[in-house]
Amino acid sequence: MNHHTVPGRRVVRAAADTETAARRDTHAVVIGGSIAGLLASRVLADFFGTVTIFEKDHLADNAEPRAGVPQGRHVHSIWKRGLTLMEESFPGLTAELVEGGSAEVEMTSDFAWYHRGVWKLRVPSGILITCQTRPFLEWHIRRRVCQISNIRLVDQCHVKRFAADPGRVTGVVVQSRRAGAAEETVAADLVVDASGRGSGTPRQLDELGYGQPAMSVIDVDVGYATRLYDRPPREDHPWKALIIAPTPPHGKRLGVVFPVEGQRWIVMLGGWNGDHPPRDDDGLLEFARSLEAPDIYTFMRDAVPLTPSVGYRFRANTRRYYERMQRFPGGLIVLGDSLCSFNPIYGQGMTTSALDAMTLRQCLERGVRKGDSIDAIANRFRKRVPRRLEAPWRMAAGEDMNWPGTQGDPPFGTAFMNWYFGRVHALTARDPRVLVQFVRVANMIDSPARIFHPRVLAPVLTRSARVGRPRLMRQKVPASITKR
Ligand SMILES: Cc1cc2nc3c(=O)[nH]c(=O)nc-3n(C[C@H](O)[C@H](O)[C@H](O)COP(=O)(O)OP(=O)(O)OC[C@H]3O[C@@H](n4cnc5c(N)ncnc54)[C@H](O)[C@@H]3O)c2cc1C
Repeated sequence: MNHHTVPGRRVVRAAADTETAARRDTHAVVIGGSIAGLLASRVLADFFGTVTIFEKDHLADNAEPRAGVPQGRHVHSIWKRGLTLMEESFPGLTAELVEGGSAEVEMTSDFAWYHRGVWKLRVPSGILITCQTRPFLEWHIRRRVCQISNIRLVDQCHVKRFAADPGRVTGVVVQSRRAGAAEETVAADLVVDASGRGSGTPRQLDELGYGQPAMSVIDVDVGYATRLYDRPPREDHPWKALIIAPTPPHGKRLGVVFPVEGQRWIVMLGGWNGDHPPRDDDGLLEFARSLEAPDIYTFMRDAVPLTPSVGYRFRANTRRYYERMQRFPGGLIVLGDSLCSFNPIYGQGMTTSALDAMTLRQCLERGVRKGDSIDAIANRFRKRVPRRLEAPWRMAAGEDMNWPGTQGDPPFGTAFMNWYFGRVHALTARDPRVLVQFVRVANMIDSPARIFHPRVLAPVLTRSARVGRPRLMRQKVPASITKR
């Protein structure tokens, strides 16, 4: 592994044939072979001669959870925008998932969603997502990445630090986890940090004399307990997926039931501000019984568990502002959870990683058109990517402020947004047009500004947003919106 690195080198856009058009002697290294790293690699393969992904875990050819992604054992819903971007990167991916056992679920008519004291309407929105476990999704993406001939995925290989010259990162120092392996320096024209929440980039930049990026921390102390259950073919629930979310500030407890591959249900119970579910059977059931509607409790009471429950504690939303650093080395890009990590309850991480990859593609395409150097392209990415983080960050950090135990500086305008969304949530139980617009924004299909579209704004300002009383989900699914 020996590549030459020259500052100011350029990449060329791959035309129809990726391998022949991409410049053969350019090399990009990606740290981390999880969702953000895999999606970024797919983009880089169109512009660089070789892309090497270093992943510290052993990567088996299966959908088993692994140590480097402990969150993989927990519910991972993918918003429609993320799924669409993944499908664009890997045409046919959605069909492969469904063929392998993912469940197709319509976001509004198939979901029974209790939130802020009301059941959302069950009308079709045409937004179809797939439900599967996180390792299953990652495995399918990984398989597709491994079919791209100029990508090398090196597993069981730990990236220990950057290799650097004054002014730029020139590669990485790696060490295989196989017995007796020594450290090795791998040169690269571009290094992409997709190593997740525990990213070592802030510390390393400090050691290299650049200082650390400013950081926002919204401490929310969320706890999860997750368990898989049998999903017999003849079960007859009036929903395909079920969410029971709390009414803040007093309600802090959430429950989710999603269908996943292998004819199983994944059930997650969680709580904000330290109100975490226990892990033992009786404690779990009690926690489920304390949710604001009884449906998950009755489901769990009657269902057959396949696994013990596993826990996860998520302390804080974290966002690093690399774009504000006065000095930043060339040859380095940070994306995915390394850059911004959200309260997982809102399910935004994978879609945001897909948006990061899309931004990377746009920056590379523009840079190639203008004949920019790799460093100039990386710099443009650093300045542009925060714009796409703004909406999901506001959503997560702002929403978390509804609970008084949350610590941190709320984004500007949080009090107004939380008042507004409180009314929107109430209206989603009565107004199909408000519901569909809300779900389109939540799925990141539409810009957040659409939540102020007159079809939402008018009822928010004029109709009383009364909160109903919790009861068991017995709502019939209407055939279409137009019937209402
Ligand atoms: C409990 C929980 C539930 C979640 N639920 C959802 C959800 O419902 N929907 C959603 O969209 N998102 C969810 N997320 C977020 C989602 O998991 C991440 O946003 C997504 O995986 C993208 O993260 P990433 O690829 O940047 O980092 P990670 O997934 O954390 O992956 C980092 C990778 O880098 C590797 N690595 C780390 N350091 C090194 C190193 N030095 N050398 C080599 N390899 C290294 C790790 O082994 C790992 O493979 C959830 C997160 C949590 C914690």
